[in-house]
Amino acid sequence: MGKPTGFMEYKRQEPPHRPVAGRIGDSFEVELPMPEPDLVRQAARCMDCGIPFCHGGGCSLANLIPEFNDMVYRGRWRDAAELLHATNNFPEITGRICPAPCEAACTLNVTDDPVLICHIERQVAERAFDSGWVVPQRPGKLTGRKVAVIGSGPAGLAAAQQLVRAGHEVTVLEKSDRIGGLLRYGIPDFKLDKRILDRRLDQMRAEGVQFQTGVAAGEDLSAHYLRDKFDAVLLAMGAGRPRDLSVPGRELENVVFAMDFLTRQNRLVAGLGRGEGPSAHGRVVAVIGGGDTGSDCVGTSIRQGAKEVHQFEIMPRPPQRENPDTPWPEYPRILRTTSSHEEGCRRRWSVRTTELTGISGRVAQLRGVEVDWRQTPAGPRMYDREGSEFSIPVDLVVLAMGFVHVEHAGLVDAMGLKRDQRGNIAADNHSTSVDGVFVAGDAAMGASLVVRAIDSGRSAARAVHRWLCG
Ligand SMILES: Cc1cc2nc3c(=O)[nH]c(=O)nc-3n(C[C@H](O)[C@H](O)[C@H](O)COP(=O)(O)OP(=O)(O)OC[C@H]3O[C@@H](n4cnc5c(N)ncnc54)[C@H](O)[C@@H]3O)c2cc1C
Ligand code: SF4
Repeated sequence: MGKPTGFMEYKRQEPPHRPVAGRIGDSFEVELPMPEPDLVRQAARCMDCGIPFCHGGGCSLANLIPEFNDMVYRGRWRDAAELLHATNNFPEITGRICPAPCEAACTLNVTDDPVLICHIERQVAERAFDSGWVVPQRPGKLTGRKVAVIGSGPAGLAAAQQLVRAGHEVTVLEKSDRIGGLLRYGIPDFKLDKRILDRRLDQMRAEGVQFQTGVAAGEDLSAHYLRDKFDAVLLAMGAGRPRDLSVPGRELENVVFAMDFLTRQNRLVAGLGRGEGPSAHGRVVAVIGGGDTGSDCVGTSIRQGAKEVHQFEIMPRPPQRENPDTPWPEYPRILRTTSSHEEGCRRRWSVRTTELTGISGRVAQLRGVEVDWRQTPAGPRMYDREGSEFSIPVDLVVLAMGFVHVEHAGLVDAMGLKRDQRGNIAADNHSTSVDGVFVAGDAAMGASLVVRAIDSGRSAARAVHRWLCG
């Protein structure tokens, strides 16, 4: 434990953010690094709990949180970096974008504010890169076994890195034109600068991972070919099927899925494409869906120069601080205000979109109604609130209502893989219903978090390795 009285002496301090007026004019990251003396004080708040809920229940990766907090307090940055990399392949990424279930589970969160775990993680990882401690880790012995990883999101990347370090020949096949999955074309640059991702990919290439982009497995390469050419196949294809809005007017122009909208912007920032699809510039935007994807669409709309941004959520507004339904150390269902919301957005809860109307084929108006949620024996049900119907003029509607499951057409159907009740690929310890075919990440769990995808990729790699080598 760094400083026994640290948690009593120091208050939690949030990492600095760039001022709104400056940041909405560009796509650079909103969060800035905290100066080192402040960060060390934040690490000193850790109590090194006998039962560290941050590590045990909070962090899917079981990061060694009290230990790295202690190292940071003592200035042993290299040791902290080694501890972080022992459990997490990409701490520079989770340190930026993880919603930090570890902080929610931190014991200090019961009576005070939690330790600033996530930002400490980011800074340790950055120190490791700046100091040249992140070097390729080549395997001592090669196994001669070939593994295909389908999909290059965090699950596929973590699995590929673990497998290549175990001595296997690993090829990552990605249907998109760039590697990274949602890290590349979903999460905006203002949350995760893509140079951070590229820097890690350089390490992986030097370790021997082979990347092939523009290859849709199941279409460009058949399921039969994959089974024949590789000793094992690991599917890390994400949960790409978006939830749709079935209301009159859905077919109008300028009603788009969040991923199309966000990918367009990610590509423009990367200097790719000409901006296929509608921009929010000068438009009144309605984002339907109150979650993180919706919030990313809000921040993106503002950077594109939207006239007004509205965000509608069908569920009721969650409580501001404590929610008895999700007591500590659970991840609390409470009101979250992201940096994008602070940039200027009108948020409404308990709103159901009932219709979109248009002029000359283009969306022009959103109609909605407020709803009440009531408990029934069959679970919570919503009822339209009489007289609460409203309409607003809109020029662009972005659908950010989550994802249903992995895409079935193509590889999943061609391999005849069993699915679970929610439409994800069914698995037992990552083994699918087809021998030698494994699954990791959102394709197995449904849409989730980067930290869980990394964890899933790592444990799937263990399952593949055991299957190949006993
Ligand atoms: C807009 C948005 C913002 C998010 N923000 C956060 C956040 O801030 N923090 C957080 O923790 N989580 C966030 N998430 C969730 C997180 O990004 C996902 O849970 C995570 O990326 C899942 O990882 P994955 O590797 O399973 O799949 P993905 O990242 O979805 O990657 C799957 C990859 O497989 C490829 N693929 C699919 N089919 C094929 C095929 N047949 N052949 C070849 N390639 C194929 C896809 O092109 C894709 O690149 C966000 C999600 C979205 C949509
Ligand atoms: S729960 Fe919080 S205070 Fe306790 S060890 Fe973890 S980070 Fe430190």
